Amino acid sequence: MTKIKYLLLALVFSSIFNSSLLAQSSSVQTVLIDVAHGGEDQGRLGVLEAKESEVLLAISDELREVAKDREGIKLIFLRAEDKLLSLAEREKIISAQPLALLVSIHLGVSSFHTESGISVYYCAPTSVADDLVFIAEEEKFFTNAPLDCQGEEVRDKLFAQQLEGELTKNLKLYYDGVQSSGVKKAPWAILKTTKQPAAVVLLSSLDHPVEGRRLMDRRYRRVLATSLYQSIEKYLQK
Ligand SMILES: [Zn+2]
Repeated sequence: MTKIKYLLLALVFSSIFNSSLLAQSSSVQTVLIDVAHGGEDQGRLGVLEAKESEVLLAISDELREVAKDREGIKLIFLRAEDKLLSLAEREKIISAQPLALLVSIHLGVSSFHTESGISVYYCAPTSVADDLVFIAEEEKFFTNAPLDCQGEEVRDKLFAQQLEGELTKNLKLYYDGVQSSGVKKAPWAILKTTKQPAAVVLLSSLDHPVEGRRLMDRRYRRVLATSLYQSIEKYLQK
């Protein structure tokens, strides 16, 4: 009887030991989520006067909830309140995580050909005037941005393609009429702050009659957050 007890104890300890070893060996990837705009910079205005900065915060709340139930990715949000962080402040948080991926979230607007759906940008020079005007307006609060993209263009394009593909695919499972403007390149200041894979994701269009209203719905924001999380996860699994 005592022998059996010892045997059982040994089994229990060995399984605890093994699982703690497993936990130690599985690497957790850190991903920085840059929640764009904030404070005096409200970003774009959408249907029902929705402010981009606030809708992005609501989406990041859902993303935080999604991440709670899952393992393998540690999310760090650059802002969690309605406050404007300068580029230098954002850069400080980013440089403290030199191995982290960076995903900057925004919402599109119709005046810049982001009428409907998703667009994902990676850092690279572009001569598309619309994109240059768009990012200049989006990042007008950022001055003295460094000049060149630091990442590797081919790798960052792959990251952007992975995010765009998975995000669009997942969203289509739940909603009709989901469109994507695809992957684009532009020298966003925020993307110049890291050497790691980085992308700016326009999650939906804020002033689109259908998507703008969907963004007011928590279920849509949750599906967006889940889809974004899964797209990052897929990239990391490759
Ligand atoms: Zn924006």
